[in-house]
Amino acid sequence: MKAALYTKPNTIEVRNDVTDPDFLEGVMVRVKTTGFCATDVKMIKGLKKSFRPLPLIFGHEFAGEVVKSTVTKYVEGDRVAIAPFAGCGVCRFCLRGDEHLCRNRMLFSNGSTAEYTVVGPELAVKAGWKLPVDVTWEEGALTEPLACVVLSLRACDFRPGDSVLVLGGGVMGLLHVLLAKAWGARRVMVSEPGRFRREFAATLGADVVDPTNCPDVGSWARDLSGEGPDIIVVAAGSAEVGNAALQVAGRGSRIQFFGGMPSGTTVAVDTGLIHYSGVTLLGTSGFRSVDVQSAADMIRDHAVDLKQLVTHRFPVEEAQTAFETTQKEEALRVMVENTGW
Ligand SMILES: [Zn+2]
Ligand SMILES: [Zn+2]
Repeated sequence: MKAALYTKPNTIEVRNDVTDPDFLEGVMVRVKTTGFCATDVKMIKGLKKSFRPLPLIFGHEFAGEVVKSTVTKYVEGDRVAIAPFAGCGVCRFCLRGDEHLCRNRMLFSNGSTAEYTVVGPELAVKAGWKLPVDVTWEEGALTEPLACVVLSLRACDFRPGDSVLVLGGGVMGLLHVLLAKAWGARRVMVSEPGRFRREFAATLGADVVDPTNCPDVGSWARDLSGEGPDIIVVAAGSAEVGNAALQVAGRGSRIQFFGGMPSGTTVAVDTGLIHYSGVTLLGTSGFRSVDVQSAADMIRDHAVDLKQLVTHRFPVEEAQTAFETTQKEEALRVMVENTGW
């Protein structure tokens, strides 16, 4: 089969002679489209350890057509989106509902920047869904990032009427805006230095600010939200932004460290903020199967419009260009497509 492989830092090669994945059980999916995720970018830049040896087929946000199935949930020809992992179901983390912390995750056969990928039966059932005709492949491929944001806001104990400040207007920050709005936030604010992303956030109904041009984002946010935002989402991967979240926090703010930072990154916390002001620091990474199914429900019912987040599309042959484009400010989600079918 044809596949785009990460071969060495900053390099993607497209090969036509990659062996098809073995199919024994579960589903075999003919991949239609894959979202280029920031996690893939970090890995391909060599900044993040890959979970399989090189060369490897990357991509984990995908949608495609079922070509073989041994599970009753899907038949040949179904259009599906399947999230890339699920917890084992039996460890202490899975048993207490923290499936995203499972150390023994079920994964699929190979990354999705390929013609085919194989998903085991349990993973396919737990983490997948059938796309109705009025849901596009791209919306399907955005199920996984939306699921991460569903878990993020649930972990913050999001309540309708909350005010939310998002630090960083990349695609994950914007997904927080869309979901918080859909769930009844009274006000959503975005701090983002890049003009394109900031203006995009404004079109979604957020109050926006340029932190490089505003001496005190904290007082700006307090003016808009009273005591300070109920929820502050760090949707950027730098200590500077983490520290900014602590500066902005008001009484009772919940701070979500959502964006992954280089290991060893530290922020300084005045413990009075936690003890006297009741500020909560938390973080999540990934999603649970229940979050995937909630994300799927929201997409199915068109409760969030994800289509607008796709800014660029490239055929799999141009995966290298897609990789470079993803790193530009004016790119939100970049899709890598298998064309010709
Ligand atoms: Zn992702
Ligand atoms: Zn587990």
